[in-house]
Amino acid sequence: MIPASFEYQAPKTLDEALRLLSRHGDEAKILAGGHSLLPLMKLRLASPRYVVDIGRLRGMDYIREENGKIAIGALATHAQVFASELLREKCPLLAETASEIGDMQVRNRGTLGGSLAHADPAADYPAAILALDAEIVAQSGDGGKRTIPAADFFVDLLSTQLRPGEILTEVRVPVKRANEGAAYRKFHQPASGFAIVGAAARLAIGKGGKIEDIALGMTGVGSKSYRASAVEKALRGKGVSEKLIADACVKAAHGVEPLSDIFASAAYRREMASVFARRAIALAIERAQPHAAAPPMPAAKGKRK
Ligand SMILES: Cc1cc2nc3c(=O)[nH]c(=O)nc-3n(C[C@H](O)[C@H](O)[C@H](O)COP(=O)(O)OP(=O)(O)OC[C@H]3O[C@@H](n4cnc5c(N)ncnc54)[C@H](O)[C@@H]3O)c2cc1C
Repeated sequence: MIPASFEYQAPKTLDEALRLLSRHGDEAKILAGGHSLLPLMKLRLASPRYVVDIGRLRGMDYIREENGKIAIGALATHAQVFASELLREKCPLLAETASEIGDMQVRNRGTLGGSLAHADPAADYPAAILALDAEIVAQSGDGGKRTIPAADFFVDLLSTQLRPGEILTEVRVPVKRANEGAAYRKFHQPASGFAIVGAAARLAIGKGGKIEDIALGMTGVGSKSYRASAVEKALRGKGVSEKLIADACVKAAHGVEPLSDIFASAAYRREMASVFARRAIALAIERAQPHAAAPPMPAAKGKRK
């Protein structure tokens, strides 16, 4: 399939990119890694008149600690997020999630900002970003800069709080606490690797062995990623018990209308949401135990067929 013709523009600075986007309005699309936009253009589901390539902007792929958080430039690729020693040590949930995305080619080109801005309901990062209570920074051509909490960012299928002309420039995630454990568990779509269901759990275990705090981000289940607040509420402040966790995770798709497609019916997705939520929480608890040998970070997945 060949996309409709378009004018390609490759600004050299972020300011220039923002100016171009202001000028072109909704006739323009941002190109980052191209791994979601180009397939849409080839299918003619998107036919922008202008494509503004931000993928060549320098200095927007940093990963650094700043003011007690880790700031990640929007152009950091999935491979960079996975390989980052800083993230592995201080926010391993994000590195683990990146390791689960697609195959090596996708991870080498796809970007954190592109994935979040695209808001595919089967994308992996949104589950982790929600569980981490991340902050998403967006800049616009009029010099405006705003911070959007992850909880407010995803609006619906392929739709976010980003306004036309805004560029997602940075994502900020918290540094892991000493008594915290986190895990991402995913039911892969066997061809692309996208999440039929994905669950990102982040929790802290208190001195008495109780779950002090818990956040559970879900992806793949409904038209947008969400926090499974019914599960969180059922577990917060409770002692760790297999039965309690299993009972709570039955609510992993509570209040959500699960998607139904050739890969999984709505009923099956609901069931898998519960299974993968349980697995993510169980592993996060294991990792939160201060004396337990933390299971090693998995190697990134190769091409799945
Ligand atoms: C074969 C294949 C398998 C895949 N498997 C998975 C998977 O298992 N899990 C998964 O999560 N993803 C998967 N993906 C998607 C992949 O992760 C994409 O890279 C990602 O969704 C989009 O990032 P990108 O940088 O390529 O964005 P692009 O394709 O360049 O852009 C995507 C959209 O976001 C907008 N955009 C991009 N950057 C910004 C920005 N900084 N600010 C504002 N808007 C922006 C664009 O205008 C466009 O609308 C797969 C893709 C392919 C082709």
